Amino acid sequence: MAILVAGGAGYIGSHMVDRLIEKGRDVVVVDNLSTGHRAAINTKARFYEGDTRDHDFLEQVFTKETIEGVIHMDAFSLVAESMKDPLKYFDNNVIGMVALLEVMHQHNVKYMVFSSTAATYGVPERTPIHEEDRKEPINPYGESKLMMEHMIRWCDKAYGIKFVALRYFNAAGAKADGSIGEDHHPETHLIPIILQVAAGQRDKLKIFGTDYATPDGTNVRDYVHIVDLADAHILALDYLIQGNDSQAFNLGSSTGFSNKQILEAAREVTGKEIPAEEAPRRGGDPDSLVANSDKARKVLGWKPQYDDVHDIIKTAWTWKQKHPKGYED
Ligand code: NAD
Ligand code: UDP
Repeated sequence: MAILVAGGAGYIGSHMVDRLIEKGRDVVVVDNLSTGHRAAINTKARFYEGDTRDHDFLEQVFTKETIEGVIHMDAFSLVAESMKDPLKYFDNNVIGMVALLEVMHQHNVKYMVFSSTAATYGVPERTPIHEEDRKEPINPYGESKLMMEHMIRWCDKAYGIKFVALRYFNAAGAKADGSIGEDHHPETHLIPIILQVAAGQRDKLKIFGTDYATPDGTNVRDYVHIVDLADAHILALDYLIQGNDSQAFNLGSSTGFSNKQILEAAREVTGKEIPAEEAPRRGGDPDSLVANSDKARKVLGWKPQYDDVHDIIKTAWTWKQKHPKGYED
């Protein structure tokens, strides 16, 4: 029986696939390579190139393979882009989820671990955020992910598809040996952009907004290492296979870092000056997003290995130094 990773060529997906293979699991990947990379997929996984909105394509994969459970990571996930082009997000994310759930139902596949996000909460009612807190997304990306959570919940009730929704906060870092890592085109995420400046590929960092309601005026985010994230999915899958009920969990480190603090930490890790300038706010950014992840630790037994943001940035820097141009190198 294989685990299907939808979006397994992406940043998080490629680490997910790698970790499953390290743990001896049989892995199938579907990905349309819209933002992912063929070279990021562990060669021990069986790869099918195609779009999750394409019902016939999925039908072929599910007929050929014996799928035990699905890890759903294929989505568009850029807040700013979603503000400019919401329909791109509802089309790719929501329609892709409909097709995947249909085919899972037809093939009697009963387990899904879903990549959800802190963006489902919108402006949090308290910090740190607990799973049951109010969810009112303030950008179409977060809205699409909340809709997807609701869709699976109804499919649980109707078809018995059990799910774990993992609401990650900010995924960061790379596999420690630097063999796989983050490579988006264009890059929009804070840490890889900072490291592009450190590597001399960009003049300076633009800090988007310095008038937020946070101690230094810049957004506060909660960074969680990519391999810790991958491990939480394996625990979640096993939790479902053992017969437990559907649940949602936050995944974060429970510590917030401002954008200025991340910049400072990156200067320390890289030993580079990393010029930066203040810039206007980016649309759709809440002041502060910090997780309470006690539930994942208690219920899933999740024990993140990385608790220092310097160590997380160090792994991203190793990847950057080994692959300055990402998967082109
Ligand atoms: P990514 O863009 O690197 O990976 C997404 C992958 O899905 C890519 O390989 C892409 O080619 C593929 N894909 C997208 N649409 C597809 C479709 N219709 N059919 C087939 N393949 C498709 O993004 P990522 O940062 O690795 O994020 C992975 C998941 O985690 C996403 O669902 C995202 O919403 C979620 N997430 C990410 C973060 C983060 O900090 N990066 C935080 C919270 C949640
Ligand atoms: N950010 C920034 N400059 C950049 C990229 C990002 O100031 O060039 C900020 C962004 O506005 C947010 C934080 O860094 O406050 C994290 O953004 P990212 O896109 O990495 O992740 P998100 O929180 O949107 O998932």
